[in-house]
Amino acid sequence: MNAYQRTDGFSLMLPDGTTMPRLGQGTWMMGESEGKRQAEVDALKNGLTLGMNLLDSAEMYADGRAESIAGEAIIEYDRSDVFLVSKVYPWNAGRDRLSKSCEQSLKNFGVETLDLYLLHWREDADLAEVVYGMEELIDRGKIRRWGVSNFDTEDMEALWKVTDGKKCAVNQVLYNLGSRGIEFDLMPWQRERGIPFMAYCPVAQGGSLREELLNSGDVWETAQKHNATPIQILLSFVLRHEDMAAIPKAVSQEHVEQNAVVRSIRLSEDDIELLSRSFPAPGRKTPMEKV
Ligand code: NDP
Repeated sequence: MNAYQRTDGFSLMLPDGTTMPRLGQGTWMMGESEGKRQAEVDALKNGLTLGMNLLDSAEMYADGRAESIAGEAIIEYDRSDVFLVSKVYPWNAGRDRLSKSCEQSLKNFGVETLDLYLLHWREDADLAEVVYGMEELIDRGKIRRWGVSNFDTEDMEALWKVTDGKKCAVNQVLYNLGSRGIEFDLMPWQRERGIPFMAYCPVAQGGSLREELLNSGDVWETAQKHNATPIQILLSFVLRHEDMAAIPKAVSQEHVEQNAVVRSIRLSEDDIELLSRSFPAPGRKTPMEKV
């Protein structure tokens, strides 16, 4: 049993039969200012103490400095207690550059292996090359598994056609109460194939991605019922899917603590119905939302 499974059992099963924590911490916008570095390291450490032991980063975030902040936060932890995720730019995902990017990310984190390495978005990446390179990184012990991000259904279908494409572990996508497009077709497609999700922007960037969320009486009513904040309701809306992990980013200690306790909030069918009144799942295909 993995250490993160022992912590609280709040994990999901990956296609390879291993587990991944379901509540983690994002790092986008961290590492942008030296003056904020210590607060960012402390926030991640606090979140780790509270059991949010999946850290999501990318070579893109502050040119690797977000990865180094995550690396600093985990120094006192047993490596097996933390699940580290990073992402590679599509233009670095070809056979030659992928290995170089991965090595740099490992150096930034100060670790020998990543738990999950994602293609950040598809753009014009050659999927056969990406998968070949990812599998090679697994063989060399640099990563434990790989996945994709911002892949819509047609991208997943293209991935399924390349050799070993079906070994994809996760698709990380934008998902929250105000952005439910994936529920129409991508979610059923991945569920049929047992591919879990990782939701980014799970709290809609503190509500700012869609202002109606925090102005909604239905969200406030649900929050009151659960003695929670509206943002906690947004996070619990994401975590109600058992095959979905969420990676809220928070630097404020209060936010970190509020996010950690969301694991104990259980929304009922009536709650979901109420929330869906203002923010319904789409009844037709909509373009995938990205930030
Ligand atoms: P989030 O939805 O996680 O929102 C982050 C914002 O919400 C911050 O301003 C934070 O404030 C605030 N916040 C967090 N918790 C609370 C709370 N309990 N109450 C009130 N406000 C809160 O957006 P992100 O864009 O950061 O997405 C999360 C992560 O997903 C990223 O950090 C990144 O790791 C990943 N990501 C991946 C993408 C991809 O293309 N694959 C794209 C975008 C994000 P504060 O920091 O001040 O505490």
